[in-house]
Amino acid sequence: MSGTRLAPDAAGPTLCVGEILVEIVATTAGEGFLEPQPLTGPFPSGAPAIFADQCGRLGGTVAMIGAVGDDDFGRINLDRLRRDGVDVTGIAIDPGVPTGSAFVRYRHDGSRDFVYNIATSAAARFGWNAATEAVANRCAHLHVMGSALSMPGAWAVIEPAARAIRARGGSVSLDPNLRKELVHDRRTADRFRQLVVSCDLLLPSGEELEHAAGLDGVRGTGAASERDDAQRTAAAIVRLFELGVGEIALKRGERGASVFLPDGRRADAAGFTVDELDPTGAGDCFGAAYLTCRRLGLPVERALDYGCAAGARNVTVLGPMEGAGTRAQLDAFMRATPRRA
Ligand code: ATP
Ligand code: MG
Repeated sequence: MSGTRLAPDAAGPTLCVGEILVEIVATTAGEGFLEPQPLTGPFPSGAPAIFADQCGRLGGTVAMIGAVGDDDFGRINLDRLRRDGVDVTGIAIDPGVPTGSAFVRYRHDGSRDFVYNIATSAAARFGWNAATEAVANRCAHLHVMGSALSMPGAWAVIEPAARAIRARGGSVSLDPNLRKELVHDRRTADRFRQLVVSCDLLLPSGEELEHAAGLDGVRGTGAASERDDAQRTAAAIVRLFELGVGEIALKRGERGASVFLPDGRRADAAGFTVDELDPTGAGDCFGAAYLTCRRLGLPVERALDYGCAAGARNVTVLGPMEGAGTRAQLDAFMRATPRRA
């Protein structure tokens, strides 16, 4: 398998746009933040920043547009991205407000509660200007995180950047990355739809697949509903290719991932067997590794292996991008780690 609509890495960097945050992680599992509790961090974070960092670590060319405050939270992000080869010239330093943050605590069932400071922080205060336009004009691929679509500043960049990159023959990918704490109004939904119908690579996780296809429905449990789920997945895939999507990589957490192509071909990869210490960032690392490998010319199956390895390796380390691997680290990880049956 090889044919792809994704622009090759040699044509120009992957552009990531959106929130740059620090993440502060509760060290105990439980319900939210209503009690004083032990915390650890700050870790560099923000879905688009994690994605950019993993692209860079894997040897892809990549640039980031966003903003940080003139504070240590901003500096740890800039230092990390720079260290890992990300072009940070499109990241503004805003002296008037602090760097964005996310406090996260895991519940016993594995779900997460967040307290975000994005909208009123530097994370949301960037836009389309001479500096960001210059960065976008060097890029050949745009990766969009659904979590950025509710940010007016991000959309002010994403929309013209997508137009400019496409006009030069570049490509666009989309990770729906839906978060219950973030705004989902009519306008965000329209932006999401506009991106789905034209994207060259869609990177949904679980039920985001049906949501992207506009086929949301309630899922049951048990053997019969597993069959229903498989049918629902198949219907969503058909619908998304009708809408014009170029390639779909579906994430399934510890169960691994699958890739679907419009001509009916599909590839499946079982998850690697790891002890999950911190699941945050798995989807971003998976997507960045898959996209980067495809842009570097690797076939679907190989890119899928690197994606699964990047996601699995990242969950073994505390902090959202602390486990993002280089190509050598991911090769070593794949040699050393068995797959789930
Ligand atoms: P995120 O929380 O970052 O949004 P996501 O829901 O988008 O995550 P996941 O499916 O959780 O994405 O993870 C992406 C990929 O990483 C999976 O397809 C899988 O290959 C790998 N992965 C994630 N968690 C595990 C795990 N516990 N064990 C093995 N592999 C994992
Ligand atoms: Mg995700």
